[in-house]
Order: sequence, then C-alpha cells, then structure tokens
Amino acid sequence: MISRLSDLIWPPRSLLSDAIVDRPGVIEAELWGELKFLADPLCQCCGFPLPDGASPGDICGACAGRKPAYDTARAPLAYDDHARRLILDLKRGGRRDGLPVFAKWMSAAAAEQLAKADFLAPAPMHWTRLAARSFNQAAWLTHALARASGKPWKPGALTRVKRRRSQAGLSASERRRNVGGAIKAFGSYTGKTVLVVDDVFTTGATLEACARALRKAGAAEVHAVTLARVVRPADISI
Ligand SMILES: [Zn+2]
Repeated sequence: MISRLSDLIWPPRSLLSDAIVDRPGVIEAELWGELKFLADPLCQCCGFPLPDGASPGDICGACAGRKPAYDTARAPLAYDDHARRLILDLKRGGRRDGLPVFAKWMSAAAAEQLAKADFLAPAPMHWTRLAARSFNQAAWLTHALARASGKPWKPGALTRVKRRRSQAGLSASERRRNVGGAIKAFGSYTGKTVLVVDDVFTTGATLEACARALRKAGAAEVHAVTLARVVRPADISI
C-alpha cells in the first residue's frame, strides 16, 4: 500500500533516463538495446574483449606482458556513456534501485568466479571519503551480489590505510604506485578464494592492490567483478 502510494507520488524512473517505467530498477526498451554487454571472446585473465576468432583461454597483450596480481577480472558492461550514468547515479546520487539488476548482470558475467568464491569483499574506500559521502558504492554492489548469490560477504575484509590522491587522470603505472600499499586486508584468509567487487575496472590498479593485500593474508585465489570495464584507452582518464 505504502509502496503503491509512493509510486503515485514518485513514479519509478528508468535507470538511464527520466522516462517513467512500470517498476523500479528497469530500463526502457529503446535504451536497453544500447547497453554494451561484454561477451566472449574475453581475455581469460582480465576480461578485456578479444578479437573474434580468439580461443577460450587466450589472454590479451597486456596480461601476456605483465600478469596482474588478481587471477581473473570480469564485468558485464563496457564502460561508455550509459555505464557512466549508471555508476555516477550510484556513486554520487546514491541511487539504489538499480542494484538488483546490476547484481544479476554481475552474477552472469562472473558465474564461474562466484561459484568458487568462499566470500565476497568490497573494494575499500578511505574513511575520510566514506565520511564525506556516507556510503561506499562498492559495498552496496557487494551486498546486492551477496543477496543474489547467497554467498557471504565481508564488508571489513579490506581497508584503505592511506588516503591517496584520486586516480582520475593517472596512467596505469601511476595508478599502481598511487594505490600500492594503501590497501590492507584484515583477518587471515588462508586458502580462501575471494571475489572482490568494485564499480568500475579502469586500469585494474585498485583491484591489484586488493589482490596483493588478500594474498598477503593467505588467500589462495583472488578474483574480481565490476559493474563496468573500460575498453577504450580514451576512458582511462576517469
Ligand atoms: Zn588481459
């Protein structure tokens, strides 16, 4: 009753436009077709899209040149204007009605990783940033994915011990230096398989710092899933 009443006053809006939709957390058909879902063939390691004709198990040039600290990373969406809107609404606007559908997409993109994960852990945010914003969007995504999959999640497994400058505008190696040592794992995770959750994979530097911290705490495997992944070099400036 309350929900029906609030729908009359604040009707649900599409996640991608101001269009009124029949229920929260949906996207109208015209824009749905424009979302860029990542599909095989993908780099077995980092999930970067490979050219057609690549075989399962192939890896991209970047991973062949330098093996990332995480075992695998996956994302359902390519980072573009639509993905940017979904993430900014979540991150800056605190909009939560898309979380169940994001969890569904992430479950599909990281089905294998999710199946073997002992628990999920959100990529951490420094407490000063957390205090300014009052929520960590990675924790929301992790919670939604935990609910959808039935896997446990540990919100405090990873912590940012140092506040570093924003990653925006930094190159891949600058980002690795910027977050290196800034993330610590709390607890002992000997032999565990962990799935780290974040909103966007830009260069993977944050996820690598999470993976290194978890390995130091004993984790046997560290995988990552994000809602979106940068696939065009021009988007690395985010
Ligand atoms: Zn790769």
